[in-house]
Amino acid sequence: MPRVGVLALQGDVREHEAAFVELGVDVRRVRTAAHLDDVDALVIPGGESTAIAHLLDTSGLRSEIGTRLGSGLAIFGTCAGLILVARDVLDGRVDQWSFGVLDVSVRRNGYGRQIASFETELEVHGVGNVHGVFIRAPKIEAIGDDVVVLASHDHGGGTHPVLVRQGRVWGCSFHPELTNDRRVQRLFVESI
Ligand code: GLN
Repeated sequence: MPRVGVLALQGDVREHEAAFVELGVDVRRVRTAAHLDDVDALVIPGGESTAIAHLLDTSGLRSEIGTRLGSGLAIFGTCAGLILVARDVLDGRVDQWSFGVLDVSVRRNGYGRQIASFETELEVHGVGNVHGVFIRAPKIEAIGDDVVVLASHDHGGGTHPVLVRQGRVWGCSFHPELTNDRRVQRLFVESI
């Protein structure tokens, strides 16, 4: 079983941790560079991407994660976490940075603000029907050739990917940790 770290700087850390514990995975919270040493994968949770980015800078984790990404660290970025791995962030704060390791263009709050948060049924490739919870979710507006789409959603203004992967880096617009269904996380764990 791989060892999964959950970035524990801000956001819904506890829910992600509980989901992986349920799967029988060895989970640890990552708050410092040293905590990264023995994890095979890192979950970047939902929350506020600007706040997480700031804390990544001040904790020294930004450069350490960058280094580990170069040597094959697997990443599961949900919502704010998706924004943090995206190559291109639209409607971000002027100083907003991201790791740029997932070849997608995402729009922050692309489905609307808090009041426009929604839940819907999704068809996830290799899993089946999954209940998707979207909270001020980023919208994936473009993807590169190497990005595999595992689920899409038609939200009126066109169909957009909501779960994608590029090799070891996964990005998810919705919150699988907020339901009792662990199949999306299991798919990720099996891929590590
Ligand atoms: N809109 C948030 C951001 O820009 C992400 C929302 C979420 O993670 N639920 O960081």
